[in-house]
Amino acid sequence: MATVNSWLEYKQHTKHCNLLNRNTMDLLAFKERLANTLISLGRTKAFITPPRKRGRPSTTPTPEPEVQPAKTKPRSVDSTPYEETIKDGLDHMPTFDYKPNSSRCKNRPCKFKTNVYCDKCNIHLCFVPGRECYRQKHRK
Ligand SMILES: [Zn+2]
Ligand SMILES: [Zn+2]
Repeated sequence: MATVNSWLEYKQHTKHCNLLNRNTMDLLAFKERLANTLISLGRTKAFITPPRKRGRPSTTPTPEPEVQPAKTKPRSVDSTPYEETIKDGLDHMPTFDYKPNSSRCKNRPCKFKTNVYCDKCNIHLCFVPGRECYRQKHRK
C-alpha cells in the first residue's frame, strides 16, 4: 500500500513539476518576446541611451593604460667597474656569455677576444690556458 501511495505521490509530484516547467518555459518565452520587443523599440535613440545614474557620480575605474614592463636591460657588460670591486675577491665568477661574437679582453694590454666575463665586474677577460687574464685582472 505504501508503495502505491508513494507512486501516486511521485506521479503527482511529477505532474506538478511538469506544470511548473511548462509555466517556466512560458515565462521564459514571454520574457524573450518582451526583450525582443524592447530591442526593436530600442531602435529609437532615446531608448538606447542608458539613463544616467542618480546619486554620487559613478566612479567607473578608467582602464589603466597598459604599462609595458620596461625591458630589463641586459646588464651592461664591459662597463668599467671600480678597481676596489675588481680586487675585493668576493663572488667573482667567470661566466660564458654565449654570444656569437666574442668581446675584447679588458686586461690591458691583452688584445684577445673572449666569451668569458666576470659576472660581478661585467668585464670580459681571457680564461683559457696560457691567457689567465681573468686571474691577473682580479689579483694584480
Ligand atoms: Zn670580477
Ligand atoms: Zn686577455
